[in-house]
Amino acid sequence: MHLFFRKLPLTLKLLIIGIVPILFLIYFSALIYKEKSKTVQLIGDYIERVDQSANVGELISELGRERRLSYQYAIKKTGHKEVEVHRLLTDSIITVIKNGHDLALANFTRYTFLDHLSQIRAIIDTSSNYPPDNIVQFYTDVIVRLNTLNATIPSNTFLKDDYQDLVSQKILSEMITYLEIMRTNIFNALYMGEYSLTALTGPQNVYYKLYKSYETEFLMKASPNSISVYNNEKKLTEYGPTMEYIDKLFGGSKFDTTYDSNEWWTISTRGVIELRKQQRALWKSVDIRIKEMSTREKNSKNLTLIFLTVSILFVIGFVTYFINDITKLLRELKLAARKISKGGTDLQLKNMPAGVIGNLAKSIKQIDKNNLLLAEAASQIGKGNFDQEVKPRSEEDLLGISIRKMQNDLREFTSQKDKIQKETEDLVYKRDEFFSVASHELRTPVTSIKAYTQLLLMDAEGSGDVQRQKMLNRMNVQVNKLTVLISDLLDISKLQNGQLAYHKEPFILEELVNEIVEEIQPTSPETQLLLKSSIHAIVNADRDRIGQVLSNLLVNATKYAHTSKEIIVELQKKGDKVICSVHDFGNGILPDEYDKIFERFYRISGDNLNTFPGLGLGLFISKEIIEKHDGKIWLQSEKGKGTIFYFELPMA
Ligand code: ADP
Repeated sequence: MHLFFRKLPLTLKLLIIGIVPILFLIYFSALIYKEKSKTVQLIGDYIERVDQSANVGELISELGRERRLSYQYAIKKTGHKEVEVHRLLTDSIITVIKNGHDLALANFTRYTFLDHLSQIRAIIDTSSNYPPDNIVQFYTDVIVRLNTLNATIPSNTFLKDDYQDLVSQKILSEMITYLEIMRTNIFNALYMGEYSLTALTGPQNVYYKLYKSYETEFLMKASPNSISVYNNEKKLTEYGPTMEYIDKLFGGSKFDTTYDSNEWWTISTRGVIELRKQQRALWKSVDIRIKEMSTREKNSKNLTLIFLTVSILFVIGFVTYFINDITKLLRELKLAARKISKGGTDLQLKNMPAGVIGNLAKSIKQIDKNNLLLAEAASQIGKGNFDQEVKPRSEEDLLGISIRKMQNDLREFTSQKDKIQKETEDLVYKRDEFFSVASHELRTPVTSIKAYTQLLLMDAEGSGDVQRQKMLNRMNVQVNKLTVLISDLLDISKLQNGQLAYHKEPFILEELVNEIVEEIQPTSPETQLLLKSSIHAIVNADRDRIGQVLSNLLVNATKYAHTSKEIIVELQKKGDKVICSVHDFGNGILPDEYDKIFERFYRISGDNLNTFPGLGLGLFISKEIIEKHDGKIWLQSEKGKGTIFYFELPMA
C-alpha cells in the first residue's frame, strides 16, 4: 500500500490530498443541508398540525351549533332551512380537514362517528318520532371524540417558547367543547321546561367535572399572561355569568330558573365566544410565531446552502491554486535539474518558497554554483593556470576529484613538455650550430675546388680535348650545386644570428629577371624558360638577394616540374607594386602543402625526394628575403596541371 502510494505521480497525490477534504466537506454539507431540510419539514408539519387543530376546533364549534339547531327542529319541526345551511358549513370544514396532509387526521371520519352523520341527518329530516335526546347524544359523542384529535405537539426544542401557549389553547379548546355540551344540555332542559337537577347531574355531571379539571389544568399550565386574560374574562365578560350559572346548577341542590332558554342561550353564547376568542388569539399567536420560525428556518436553510456552496467553491479554488502552484514550482525545479543534467549552468530559480521545495531549490542552485566554480577552474587550468584552486565538494564528488586529477596530470605533462621542448631546442641549436660550422669549414675548400675546376675547364677547352671537357663540365655543375647548398646553409646560420645584411639599391627588375633566366637556361636544356612581359619597374632592393629568390624559384621549377616543356616568367604592375610570377606545368602541389613548403627543412615526401637532392631551405630563405623587403610570396597550384609562384615588391 505504502509502495503503491509512493509510486503515484505527485500531481495525483496532491489531487487526492485536495479531493478527500472536499468530498468530506460535500458529504457533511449534504448532511447539514438534509438536517436543515428535516427541521423545515418538521416545522411545516407542526404548522399543518396547528392549522388542522384549529380546523378541528372550528368543526367542533359548528357541530355544536348544528346539534342545537337539529334538536330544535326535531322538537318544533321549524327552522329546517337554517339547519340545512348550517350542515353545508359543517361539511365544508370536514372537507378542508380531509384534504389536509396531517397524518394524525387521516380517515378521521371513520372513528369519530362522522360516517353516520348523513344517516342521522336523514333521520332528523324524515322521522317524526326519533328521540331528540338521541340526536344530542350523537352530536355530543362526535364532539367528544373529535376533541381528542386536537392533539398537542411534542414539546421539543423548536417549539419550546410556544409550547405553553399551544397547550393552553388546547385546554381552552377542551373547555369550550364541554362548555358547549353543558350549555346545550342546560338550554334543552330550559327549553323543555324540565327544571329538575337530575336532568343535569348524574351522567351529565361528568362534563362539568371534566370542564373543571380542564380549567384547573389551564390555570396550572398557562402563561401568567393567559391566566390574567382568563380571569379578566371571567370578571368583565358574559363568560363570568355563564360560569356562575353553571356552577350554581351543578354545585347547587335546586334548579335555578334565573334565565329562560333564550336568555340562557344568548348569555352563554357570548360566554363561549369570549372563551373561544382567547383560544383563537392564543392559537393565532402560536401560528404566527411558528410560521415566522418556519420562514427563519427556510432562510437559514437557503443561507446554509449558499454558504456551503461558496465554501466548497473556495476550497476547490484554493486546492486547485495550491496544486497548480506546487506543480509549477516542481516543473521549474525539473527544468533546472534537466538543464544541469545536460551540462547547463546559471539557473534562474527565483521566488522559491521556504520548506522542502525551497531547500530543494537551494540544493539545485548550490549544484549549479559548484558546477560553475568547477567549470571556471577547468577553464583556467585549460589556459595553463595550474595554481587555480580546485576544491572537491566531498569524497563522493567524482567531478571535482577528476578535475583536480586532471590539473595534476596536466601540470606534470606541461613540465614534461617544457623539458622536451627545451631538449628539442637544444638539439635544434646544436644542429644549426653544426650546419654553421660545417658550411664555414666547407666553403673555403669548395671555393678552391670551383676555381681549379674552372682553370682546368679553360685548359681543356684550349686543348680541344672534348672528353676531358665533358667530364670537367659535369664536375663544374656539381660544384655549383654544392656551392648553392653551402651558401644556403650559410644563409640559414646568418638568418639565425641576425647577420643576414641587405644592401638595398634601386635597379630595374626586368634586367635582373633577364640575367637570371639566361643563367639558369643552360643548366636545363630540355625546358624552355620564357620571359613573357616586359615592364619597366624599378625596385629599391638587395639585387643579389632578389636574384637568389628568382633563381631559387626557377631552379625548383626545372627540378620539380621537369615534365614541363616550358616555364613562363612574367612581370606585372599592380598599383605601386610589381609582381613577378614563375609558372610551370608540372605535377602541381596539394593545398595542404602550400604553407608547409615555406618552412625550413620541409620537403614534400615522394619520388622527388630521392631524385632531386636538396635541404628544404630555398623557399624558407626566399620568404625571409621577400618579407624583409616589405613584400610577400605565395603560390597557386593545381594538381597535375602546374604551379605558379608569385612574389610582390614595392616599386621605388
Ligand atoms: P629544396 O628544393 O631544397 O627541396 P625548397 O625550399 O626550394 O627546398 O623547396 C621545398 C619543396 O617544395 C621541394 O622539396 C619540393 O618538394 C617543393 N617544390 C618547390 N617548388 C616546386 C615546384 N615548382 N613544383 C613542385 N614542387 C615544388
